[in-house]
Amino acid sequence: MCRQDCISGAIMKFILTPELGRLAKWLRIFGFDAVYVSETNYAFLLIRALRDNRIILTRNSSFINKAKGIRLLRIKSEQLNQQLRQIFRELKLKPNPEEMFSRCVICNVVLEKVDKQYIKGMVPEYVFMTQEIFFLCPSCRRIYWSGSHWGNVSRVAESVITDTE
Ligand SMILES: [Zn+2]
Repeated sequence: MCRQDCISGAIMKFILTPELGRLAKWLRIFGFDAVYVSETNYAFLLIRALRDNRIILTRNSSFINKAKGIRLLRIKSEQLNQQLRQIFRELKLKPNPEEMFSRCVICNVVLEKVDKQYIKGMVPEYVFMTQEIFFLCPSCRRIYWSGSHWGNVSRVAESVITDTE
């Protein structure tokens, strides 16, 4: 259950251990700042969590003992939908549809809206003809538009959002 005590994704930040790469991408799709550590470098992970005030998300039980005193959420399920639901429920987060797709799924960087003329020649012709709104990742220069991945993920997103309302 989520009421006015829920806070938006713009505020809460995460850092995830190596087994949760897919979850990290999904948190980014939801607009959350989610750093993913691809190898188990505990020292780096702990320092980064403390420095940036990030909540550690992990399924690694041996790591949980090492992170005493640091905000940590142990992810129970192996299933993505269940993982997202657990995070939203236990941290009292309300996924905000307006913040979805605001961040590069690969780089975790906030996307910039770009003028359509700016990306002419950089996307397939039919995309240019049929889409009006484009976003650019300032880090990897990937271009996002509403058809690029929004359609594929909306069903999962809707089910998770509906479940937390
Ligand atoms: Zn990027």
